[in-house]
Amino acid sequence: MSTLLLILAYANAVIKEEVQKKPKLERRDQKLADRIVGLLRQHEEGELDIVEETSLTTDADEDLDPEYDVELNLETNEHDFKGIGSPHMVLFGKILVAIEKVWEAVKWYRLHTTARNGQPKRRSSTAMFNRFRFLKTDRDLKRLAEYESAGEVKPDHQAVIAFISAQLYERTIESINSGHVLHDTTLRAMISEIKDEFKIESSFYGSHNWLNGWKRAHRISSRSITTFVSRKRFSEKHLLTEKMENFVKDARKKFEEYDPLRVYNLDQSGFQKELYTKRTLTNTGETSVTTVEIITGSATGVTHSYTVLPMLRLDGTLHPKLYVVFSEPSGAFPTNPPPYNPTNLVLRAAKGHIMGKDLMADFFKSVAFTDEVEDDILFMVDSWGCWRNVAVIDSVRPAHKNLETIIIPPGATGQIQPLDIGIFRTFKKFMKNITEYAQRMYPEFKPHQRDSIIKVLFPIRSFIMFSDFQMLSQVYWLLCCPVFQEWRQYAWYAGGYMDTPPPRCDKPVDVCFNTHVHGKCQMAGCNNLSMIHCVYCSKNICFEEFIVNCHRCILQKMESQWKDVSIRYIPFFLGAVMKESGNRPPAMLPAKSLMMMRDLDRTAKFWDIPLTQPPKFMEWIKKYRTTGAMKVLLVLEEQDKNLMLRAAREMWLRLWSRSEKIFEDGDFIEVLKAVGVKNPEEIVAKSKEEKYAKILTENTKNGVDLSAYGAPWINVVTTDGNEHSFFGSDRFHLIADLLQQPQPLPDKLMSSQKSKL
Ligand SMILES: [Zn+2]
Ligand SMILES: [Zn+2]
Ligand SMILES: [Zn+2]
Repeated sequence: MSTLLLILAYANAVIKEEVQKKPKLERRDQKLADRIVGLLRQHEEGELDIVEETSLTTDADEDLDPEYDVELNLETNEHDFKGIGSPHMVLFGKILVAIEKVWEAVKWYRLHTTARNGQPKRRSSTAMFNRFRFLKTDRDLKRLAEYESAGEVKPDHQAVIAFISAQLYERTIESINSGHVLHDTTLRAMISEIKDEFKIESSFYGSHNWLNGWKRAHRISSRSITTFVSRKRFSEKHLLTEKMENFVKDARKKFEEYDPLRVYNLDQSGFQKELYTKRTLTNTGETSVTTVEIITGSATGVTHSYTVLPMLRLDGTLHPKLYVVFSEPSGAFPTNPPPYNPTNLVLRAAKGHIMGKDLMADFFKSVAFTDEVEDDILFMVDSWGCWRNVAVIDSVRPAHKNLETIIIPPGATGQIQPLDIGIFRTFKKFMKNITEYAQRMYPEFKPHQRDSIIKVLFPIRSFIMFSDFQMLSQVYWLLCCPVFQEWRQYAWYAGGYMDTPPPRCDKPVDVCFNTHVHGKCQMAGCNNLSMIHCVYCSKNICFEEFIVNCHRCILQKMESQWKDVSIRYIPFFLGAVMKESGNRPPAMLPAKSLMMMRDLDRTAKFWDIPLTQPPKFMEWIKKYRTTGAMKVLLVLEEQDKNLMLRAAREMWLRLWSRSEKIFEDGDFIEVLKAVGVKNPEEIVAKSKEEKYAKILTENTKNGVDLSAYGAPWINVVTTDGNEHSFFGSDRFHLIADLLQQPQPLPDKLMSSQKSKL
């Protein structure tokens, strides 16, 4: 009997308790057989979770398919080919040959005498085949003659696809060997990188069928990693089922006492992360800068973990703020924390990642018992002890807030807790996709990507957390998008709390990481490659813009909502306008100044704008002028209006979000580098030309002529030719009314409006 059958016979005998039929096995086989029996029993009890993950792998021993035709499985929408910057190569048979080499053969093929029929004399085919190894048939020689009369050798689409295929293979093997987890989407990202690097203008993107054929020919296969996870549950399964059914029934009855805006499911979930980082010291100019490369790999990695505690409302809305506890050995964030203030996270540090009652009290104070939550609320939570600690909760509960709690039976959360069924898996998948992308794009061995190394001025540990904050903040922002309302609501339906399913809605992973997401970044003026689809502005966006620069397209909200309105941004010198009009800065009257600060915070909260008031603001406005920054913008405006806008936004983020200066040459160079300008020093030098000072004076004078006395001064020209002036960024509702355009609304209002429909 074969070993396989022996193992099965053994398992069979154990399960049937027929000891006498148990065959004798070798130690190794018996161990496996016992394990199989154990798994089968756990499976029967419903205690087994099987987690499967796939990653690409290569069978290096097998030969590649010599007959592989790179164009075989192309989809119809992959055939467009507009040209190629480099490399200059054509295909002979399956061999890619540099065009120079082909041209050399063309010239050598012809002899300098003419035959009697007027045709040039040619070298013999044997001579040609011996000298040029890529030539194999008479058809190849005929091609040389054709190239000669055409006067050029042009690469065709087939050669280009073959080139991409060869590059893709090289990079895939390199990536597999360095231990990265690869998926089909990684291959697509690589294809877009190759196209970008060699300036290939083709609609080829690596469709499902093409990739499958390519993988087969290159002996690349998906290896699945299967993990068996046992869940400890009630020993009596039917008892649990009954308990679950009763709980859901009771919960639904309870929900009827509340409206859907007062019912929440809350739960903690731990995120684990393996990180390996390397740092080098470099000198740029006079200041010493720590260069950090985000590299990960589990071998020498440090484990990094944090716990999130989201609140999911019965109508499918997530609370605008996510409570996050980072595990820190010291129990506190490192000194010198990163200057980043994510508006949608409440960040805490603790010794472990498990929350205790102090953190829970803090959670209630800073998230649950705030104005963003109704006063009388019902919480559905798991059996975590702290939820029952009424004394602790009451100690931070404002008098006007009331809370009722219902507890999901232990062991049942995997099946009836909405956050577990519907939200956490997707959340983690997003984090994983973005982390994997960062790991692959920023490894140390890729010299051509050194430019994109992120420079930071704070210590390494802060940096790791900094990138985590940003990823978390960006991912949570995406998952909160109103377009996913039905998807979030589905979690309640799947748990049995609703009778009818919400309307069908695309899943966030399928939308944000769709098959066409890899290509050119669609942010104006950006040359990077995109890796994620933003559901707010419907653009494919690069890692640098989405994560590093914290893409929040709501800052540009009106531009995408107002149709047929063109906007021109005009840099001018505010100081001169103030002086000319006799206006005085609001900070000169102390009470006004105080109110302005408060109002700014309120406005930032209302619009979800990442605003942090720069602590040195007063010192800075006394010491510096903004004319330098304005003149840099004027130079950019001449070259590319969108680039100017990007630079202006980067300046805003520096000053108002990260408390960084925008007044001196060094500041401008950092701004220009951040928006992808290749020659920042030249731009800064140019901005000092007399010409730009003149334009700035001219713009400022025009402002004064329009009776401007502050910024932003908005001059609206309607189709009838009339001009209307507005002062201040809080006048957009009036402008909307004048232009008969949609009213500006922050996202939180848009989503609650939608859910009330
Ligand atoms: Zn839990
Ligand atoms: Zn966007
Ligand atoms: Zn970009």
